[in-house]
Amino acid sequence: MSELSAGWVLPVDGPPIENGRVVWEDGRIVEVGPGRAARHLDDAVILPGFVNAHSHLEYAVYAGFGDGLPFARWLLVHMERKARIGLPEMEAIARLGAAECLTAGITTVGDCSFTGVSAPACAELGLRAIVYLEVFSRDGFGLERFEENRPRVDAVANGLVRLGVSPHAPYTVGLDLYREAYDLGLPVATHLNESRDELDWLADGTGPWQPFGDALPKPLGRSGIRALAAEGLLRPGLVAAHCVVVDAEEVALLAEHDVAVVHCPRSNSLLGCGTAPLAELRAAGLRVAVGTDSPASTPSFDMFEEMRTAVYLARARERNPEALGAEEALALATIGGARALGLEGEIGTLTPGKRADLTVLSLAGSPYHPVEDPAAAVVFGGSPERVLETVVDGVTRYRQGEDAWHEVRSTASAARARLLAP
Ligand SMILES: [Zn+2]
Repeated sequence: MSELSAGWVLPVDGPPIENGRVVWEDGRIVEVGPGRAARHLDDAVILPGFVNAHSHLEYAVYAGFGDGLPFARWLLVHMERKARIGLPEMEAIARLGAAECLTAGITTVGDCSFTGVSAPACAELGLRAIVYLEVFSRDGFGLERFEENRPRVDAVANGLVRLGVSPHAPYTVGLDLYREAYDLGLPVATHLNESRDELDWLADGTGPWQPFGDALPKPLGRSGIRALAAEGLLRPGLVAAHCVVVDAEEVALLAEHDVAVVHCPRSNSLLGCGTAPLAELRAAGLRVAVGTDSPASTPSFDMFEEMRTAVYLARARERNPEALGAEEALALATIGGARALGLEGEIGTLTPGKRADLTVLSLAGSPYHPVEDPAAAVVFGGSPERVLETVVDGVTRYRQGEDAWHEVRSTASAARARLLAP
């Protein structure tokens, strides 16, 4: 049995508990309530581990690549550089991505993986993951590629790491491949309505994607969301990242088919794609999660920054300070992510019976200490540097000051040097 107490416990499925305690056994939470454990952290908050519902761990060292370029050209920089490294380097990078997630208090990722190397990386470091193997309609990148990469996930798959499939997006993947992906009976993730550029291409083959048209499926004459809906390919098991450029009818289609949406506010704004209409998505009753996407577009796997950006952009977009509160942002980043990934029965809140995935955050010396509103203190005052400990499935996978990942960092850094080599 393990236990820990702190100045505050934020179970997320109930009110904050001052001087609270969490007890777990065999990887499962058995008690949450007021109390003091042998190990007590006075200036800290215990909260459910963050669920980063859309990541690409394989791009952990891609920070700054193509910054400021239009979306299509930005993507080409990545594809070109990625071709310079091999699988061992990709795995080294994914391992760093998993380490950085744990350092930032993230305990689960929904990871879209080009090669599947994020599966061994997550298994090794103890990060819970659904690894969605990416497929594209380009020759050699379809389901045969899925079958080729699948053993990397299968070899380590257990309760912690699971297999999924990700048809990349409707502008890179034909509708038939979406159908085949569903037929696998696995969790499915995709990218939908991320940029105006892709919608221009999908509508009539125009816009910045036009020069690359030979490598893409034929334009569908409508948006990805509308095309998938028309073919019965919007389904409740689908996790859709972005949904930035959407109209009311598309939001209604997503809601009607119970598609989960992953909001990636930093990625979408840095790439100049815009920001998703979070208020409308939530008002439509959609399951909404938060994701950092990859450092290729976002600087870090930092859910605190992601939650704050969600709050800033929602309030700015709606011109309303009530558009998204700290408590709501925290819920999106925990139970929201769990619901989107279909894991709400296991994780997302500190609830007896659920798996013991928790994050311990120090508020010592923070402007939000002494604490008035613990959710506001976490969302506005939190940062990876303040994470004291990250526990996944009852096992401490990160503890501040005990950084055992020197090798992980240096190997990933060498891989970045290769990516930068002309
Ligand atoms: Zn993505």
